Amino acid sequence: MASHPGYGSHTDPTFRSAPRSVGEVVRRVGVYLKPYLWMAVATVGCAILSLAFGFLYPRLTRVIIDDVITQGRRDLLTPVAIGLLGAFFLRELFNSIRIRINNALEQNVIFDMRRHVYARLQRLPVAWFDQRASGDLMTRVIEDVNNVERLLIDGVEQGTVALLSIAGALVFMFMSSPLLGGIALIPLPFLVGGALWYTLTAHKRYRLQREAASAMNALLMDNLQGIRQIKAFGRQSHEDERFAQRADDLRRSTLVVMRAWANYGPGMQFIGAAGIGLVLWVGGVQVLNGRMEVGELVAFMLYAGIFFYEPVGRLHGLNQMLQSARAAAARVFDILDMPEERPDRRGVFTKPIRGEVQYENVSFSYGERPILRHINLHARPGEVVALVGPTGAGKSTLVNLLPAFYEPTAGRILIDGVDISGVSLKALRDNISVVSQEAFLFNGTIRENILYGRTDATEEELIAASRAANCHEFITRLPHGYDSRVGERGVKLSVGEKQRVSIARALLKNAPILILDEATASVDTATEKLIQEALERLMANRTSFVIAHRLSTIRNADQILVIRQGQIVERGRHDELLAANGLYSKLARIQGTTFIEESFQKLADVE
Ligand code: ATP
Repeated sequence: MASHPGYGSHTDPTFRSAPRSVGEVVRRVGVYLKPYLWMAVATVGCAILSLAFGFLYPRLTRVIIDDVITQGRRDLLTPVAIGLLGAFFLRELFNSIRIRINNALEQNVIFDMRRHVYARLQRLPVAWFDQRASGDLMTRVIEDVNNVERLLIDGVEQGTVALLSIAGALVFMFMSSPLLGGIALIPLPFLVGGALWYTLTAHKRYRLQREAASAMNALLMDNLQGIRQIKAFGRQSHEDERFAQRADDLRRSTLVVMRAWANYGPGMQFIGAAGIGLVLWVGGVQVLNGRMEVGELVAFMLYAGIFFYEPVGRLHGLNQMLQSARAAAARVFDILDMPEERPDRRGVFTKPIRGEVQYENVSFSYGERPILRHINLHARPGEVVALVGPTGAGKSTLVNLLPAFYEPTAGRILIDGVDISGVSLKALRDNISVVSQEAFLFNGTIRENILYGRTDATEEELIAASRAANCHEFITRLPHGYDSRVGERGVKLSVGEKQRVSIARALLKNAPILILDEATASVDTATEKLIQEALERLMANRTSFVIAHRLSTIRNADQILVIRQGQIVERGRHDELLAANGLYSKLARIQGTTFIEESFQKLADVE
């Protein structure tokens, strides 16, 4: 398949699924059937009943030809014809019941598996998500889960029915004529050989097809999120082309799958039909020589055709489904087999925590790339710690270690003297609020978004938090007030509004430790003042780590940590650092800037 160079979310090649054995797939997927065993038994039971009524068809046909037509037993015609109608009716009645139970079973199992996969997905480490494309993960949760379950439901049921039908047909066929029975089995080795070839070669084709589907979905997802950028840069034609490439990859890989099936399916059908031809040939000779009745031969042909070769053909179809499901299952198991972040840590803090934070000789690398080196810091309860430094210095990385979005590669972090690596993530994260630079809101109402901080908060608490975050006014002016919908990622609100809603959310959570990445996006002076006030209320009485961009925040901080190339190069209060005449004082002497980054940039230019 052609790969296409470009930015964004190519499916990570390292996330290629290892093939799984059919045994593993069936065993693991079978676990999901357990709670619905009675349904599975009922579908197979209905299938057997419907099969049994089906078996009456050749028998009654034989009676009509041999007894009614040949021997002139007219009296038998009406009862046999009515019996045949009855048999067909009952066959389809049980079929209908089977389909209904089977549908419910299928949807229940898909529901359980999808929930399970999603639950695991949510508990995987942030670092894992850094390597993946959202569209790929969506494909796994939606399409691949469906494919796996199709195998389980259709495969198990149809496979059982087909095997029973084949076994029943063989009994009738051998009872009727051992010679013809033997002839009917001649094509069997070819059918088995064909199935084996298909089974051994199909996995790769299906895997490539699933990967192509994922890659296309990943691009689609990325582009939908970046639709404004695509329009602003006028890149629609370029994106059309990129999407067409991915869609073409999918088209071609699907055609490869279909072509193999187009050879295999009819090939197997031909071998089956050749068997019927052989039976008819030898059977014709038997009838001519008077060793067999015409009706007996017709009944034999029906057994062989409907109850033997047709189910054999169906088993081939199931084999195709099995191979597709194997490829999909491997992709689903990739997620289920990933270790959760900190599954076994049970530690909790003695409540309420004071909010003392210490980093002891903490280092961190992204993969092989060292980012933080020997970080030591001590924040007393309620202090404001401002982190400043050039872009890429490691400020975000430093604070991301506190809620354990990433784990340090060396050293330890303590909250109130307790090493956080032994604490459960829930206990840890309940005590930390994160307000990021770009406020992320979920696609729901403003109320839902603020209550995300504490779902059981009362209306009064909600309004109090909103007032403190200076957003109550603008919310009440909206046509639907707190029930106004914010759109995807909060797209219907302005930057300043989104920021204040996210501050209200953090205020409601009321955690003793705060991580705040100050926004750099400029808003008008009035809004700036509203946000600043809201932030001051949020920081009050909390240990706050602020990735600071405003000089006003930095001036008021209890400690300023100057970070450069993953190390703390200077620390102290604003006045102390000015007096120290180091990097910070050089920075502060650069006039005419509001944002610290600009100063750093200018500093870099000066240096
Ligand atoms: P800024 O002020 O621009 O946000 P920062 O000081 O917060 O910068 P970090 O975001 O901590 O810097 O990034 C530190 C370094 O780590 C950067 O060089 C960045 O490229 C790298 N980095 C950040 N996140 C990841 C990630 N998820 N995987 C790999 N490398 C990363």
